[in-house]
Amino acid sequence: MDFSTYSPVEELKLPLFEKKKVTVKVKRDDMMHPFISGNKWRKLKHTLKDAQEKQKTKLVTFGGAWSNHLLATACAGAKFGFQTKAFIRGEEVNNPVLAMCKIFGMELRFVDRTTYRNKESIFSHHETENEAYFIDEGGRSALGMLGCSELMAELDEDFDHVVLACGTGTTLAGISKGCQQYMPNCKTHGIPVLKGGNFLYDDISALGIDLNAYSLHLDYHFGGYAKSTPTLTSFIKEVSSTTGVLLETIYTGKAFYGLCDLVENDYFAPGQKILFIHTGGLTGLLGMYEKF
Ligand SMILES: *Cc1c(COP(=O)(O)O)cnc(C)c1O
Repeated sequence: MDFSTYSPVEELKLPLFEKKKVTVKVKRDDMMHPFISGNKWRKLKHTLKDAQEKQKTKLVTFGGAWSNHLLATACAGAKFGFQTKAFIRGEEVNNPVLAMCKIFGMELRFVDRTTYRNKESIFSHHETENEAYFIDEGGRSALGMLGCSELMAELDEDFDHVVLACGTGTTLAGISKGCQQYMPNCKTHGIPVLKGGNFLYDDISALGIDLNAYSLHLDYHFGGYAKSTPTLTSFIKEVSSTTGVLLETIYTGKAFYGLCDLVENDYFAPGQKILFIHTGGLTGLLGMYEKF
């Protein structure tokens, strides 16, 4: 399995960063692959190796109807020779992301929200054959976290801070672990995209990451998961139209907004170097285009 990646680091020279005398560079994980995008690729890397070592032939996973993880799993399955199947939360629907999943050969099953909550039970109920390999929603797992931690080993310069979007917090846990291993003076900052991101403290410590190892900035969710406001969409247009780096409303737009707001409020000292991780997921725009 070839999991080599292409993810350059590039500087963003926005007037705000010049005014506040901070350096901001972007880790372009959005360039790794168009469909196995960003952190989803990193989370799948060791997971798929594990599936292969266990001689599993079918990846079974879970997600919402617009999940970047489902699309990544569908494409990675096709690329690395696994069958794929997804249990999708809610009523049967179709959309561009699910259509791409189907093109990559993924079998889709829709389950009601109550049943969906118990994923292990769905798995053991439907997947009696021992060729099936369970992958949790969003690719959340210790192996997923390990793959994310490796990002920090790819950098050839030091940073004072690293900033990224959080959904389940698995990527943040990995980056935080990667900082401890490869860049101990670099601080990890997560921008939760869900409302009430406090739950992340528990979930991240369940992955073995200490509270002191990172900071969460809880006020940049714009009303909650997949919610957006005109402020956010015009911010995204402003940044994307002046840098050529595309952001979307669900994850990277909120995280980059959070970063800029922290810079504006002098959270970072002059002279500091900040790495923003573009976690990818640009196909999310396909469900949001009417907002622009
Ligand atoms: C899934 C996703 C995230 C959230 O990752 P977690 O590990 O669940 O916190 C962030 N950004 C993008 C673009 C994503 O697709």
